[in-house]
Amino acid sequence: METDVITIDGPTSSGKNSVGLLLSQKLRFQFIDSGSIYRAGCIFLLRNNISPDSLQKVVDVYKNLDIKIRDQKFFANGEDVTDNLHDPDVTKIVSAISAIRQVREAVKIIQYKITEGKNTVMTGRDIGSEIFPKAVHKFYLTADIKIRAQRRFEQLVKKDPTIKYETVLKDMQERDKKDTDREVSPLRIPEGAIIIDNSNLDIEQTVEEMSKHINA
Ligand code: C5P
Repeated sequence: METDVITIDGPTSSGKNSVGLLLSQKLRFQFIDSGSIYRAGCIFLLRNNISPDSLQKVVDVYKNLDIKIRDQKFFANGEDVTDNLHDPDVTKIVSAISAIRQVREAVKIIQYKITEGKNTVMTGRDIGSEIFPKAVHKFYLTADIKIRAQRRFEQLVKKDPTIKYETVLKDMQERDKKDTDREVSPLRIPEGAIIIDNSNLDIEQTVEEMSKHINA
């Protein structure tokens, strides 16, 4: 049987990961959040004091990155890094690192390796456009930036009660701009993707909407 990959792209906090996870559970597919691969590399960059300007060292970290996903836990080089993927210092550098062409090439190889022979729901920025352009089911999720910032704020405030909504909104605007304006694999709506604005939909409703298209 041929391997099936469902792609979900969209800006930060558009609900891709909550929606992607639920959809994958309903379909009994594996779920991969590709942003976590970029983030996992950043954890090792920070830990080893590798500056984002040291191109070769940065690229080597991604070329040597061994990613495994087990029971929704994310392992990088044998270590469970799930709880550190969204650390603020990782979030600070990940957009710049993911804009490096050679980093994207290394991550592409990882993405092909971890999907080999496995039906997968994969989320990201370029999954339907660059990584799996031939996927049968492609989605582009989006939502109003103020709603996305509110969602992210609610997640972050649990860890850091001093965080301000305005800061989250400003960071998000900057990250959207970086992801959309970059030269290499900018965030864009993949050809043939179904666009879902989930500003007024919850996770279940968004998955229902997607399931309708998949079953059609
Ligand atoms: O989705 P998440 O916010 O975790 O992604 C972190 C960063 O990784 C994004 O801001 C984006 O710059 C980058 N990314 C990417 N391509 C992907 C997934 C994530 O460039 N497929």
